[in-house]
Amino acid sequence: VASGFPLPDSVVLWTRLAPTPLAPAGGMDPEILPVTWEIAGDDRMRRIVQSGTAYATPDWGHSLHVEPAGLEPDREYWYRFRVGDAESPIGRTRTAPGFRASPDRLRLALASCQQYEHGYYAAYRHMLDDELDLIVHVGDYIYELSWGTERVRQHNTHECYTLDDYRARYGLYKSDSDLQSAHAACPWMFTWDDHEVDNDYANDISEQNDDPRLFLARRAAAYQACYENMPLPRRAVPFGAHMRLHTIRPFGDLVWLHMLDGRQYRDPHACPEPGKRGGRSAQAADCEDLDDESRSMLGARQEAWLRRGFRRSPARWNLLAQQTVMTRIDEDPGDGEIFWTDNWNGYPGARRRLIEDIRSTGVQNPVALSGDVHAFIAASVFGGSRPDDLPGDLPEFVTTSISSQGVGQKDVNRRRQANPQVLHADSRYRGYTRIDIDRDRLQSDFVALDDVRRVDTGRRVQASYVVEAGRTAISKA
Ligand code: FE
Ligand code: CA
Repeated sequence: VASGFPLPDSVVLWTRLAPTPLAPAGGMDPEILPVTWEIAGDDRMRRIVQSGTAYATPDWGHSLHVEPAGLEPDREYWYRFRVGDAESPIGRTRTAPGFRASPDRLRLALASCQQYEHGYYAAYRHMLDDELDLIVHVGDYIYELSWGTERVRQHNTHECYTLDDYRARYGLYKSDSDLQSAHAACPWMFTWDDHEVDNDYANDISEQNDDPRLFLARRAAAYQACYENMPLPRRAVPFGAHMRLHTIRPFGDLVWLHMLDGRQYRDPHACPEPGKRGGRSAQAADCEDLDDESRSMLGARQEAWLRRGFRRSPARWNLLAQQTVMTRIDEDPGDGEIFWTDNWNGYPGARRRLIEDIRSTGVQNPVALSGDVHAFIAASVFGGSRPDDLPGDLPEFVTTSISSQGVGQKDVNRRRQANPQVLHADSRYRGYTRIDIDRDRLQSDFVALDDVRRVDTGRRVQASYVVEAGRTAISKA
């Protein structure tokens, strides 16, 4: 069971019928089954406040996404599903505070990148002790392919291409009991990155530069399996290769959470090597694409939508939860400039527009929450910028991977030299980032696992940083 995308009067309740999750169709016959759902005000399901019947159908992998209406804001609920004589575990969830409410605080965990073969999901077990309101996952929930050394467990299939492949991959990842517990413990927000489909894809262009029409068929299969397996709202139901994932969730006037999709609508990567696609480290001097102001990470419509969100938001904190690193990072310690083209460094015009929008709309206290690089990073997106970047800043906290292998710390340290705007960069540990927000400050705790190869590994807070309301500077807590 899982829940997600909370509103003041509703939250998505999810389950999937799959007696043998790794088998084709999860071991289900191709029939439609009525499933009873119940929501209660107590954890023993004694005070049922709503119930109903939903239908699990084979065309959606026997997944259910129930969106009850008329729940009370800012309170806990428990839920479960029943089909025949099977009963699901009881999940706990929480509605968002009312739109006009003024909550004192919000506590969330930021997660990304959980390559199943590289380690155990102990990070999720530790989150259970953190009394979270929300888990925010910013992508690489599954990996479509196997890679890396020191695998502690194995993928169940070859690289995913078909709907059956992606369904089986979600089935495998979701068989992990720590991940299951985290889904049952509190509502989630989710956006994807590339590995939900294909490494380093950009819109309709695959890493292998397949015919875009063929790649879109693969993308449709991947998006459908994603929808089936995540507690996503009705508006996210995929239509072929298209799925509306970007959305806002307000938490009263304290936080507006802007969830972005930097994969589906982006322009192709800058200056690919001949015959190749995907990201690369590009010499800025040889890469005219980087000077093309029109290139977009979010697509024109999502950019306009985000700008409207900035304008409308009454919230004290505006979180931009999204896939890839925004901070300008020059990989060349010398005089030249080298930028990684798969993240916002490959879309500098889009980044400039973002900062213009932040400044012109007067949106309060924007903070970027990112993932992708399998390292803890605290940085100022525009700090120490080259002359053609605009002044002003956007604090960014990048969470490390839940389990995916990191790059060597030596490389990270070498890159630090040319990037004084990066306050913290550590790729050595897997884990998550805990974000505590109240009216005066946002605190980010980098929670590092001792050893991701052990199910029972311990954790410690590696570092804590604070942004005070009304300021953009990041300081040590
Ligand atoms: Fe990743
Ligand atoms: Ca340089």
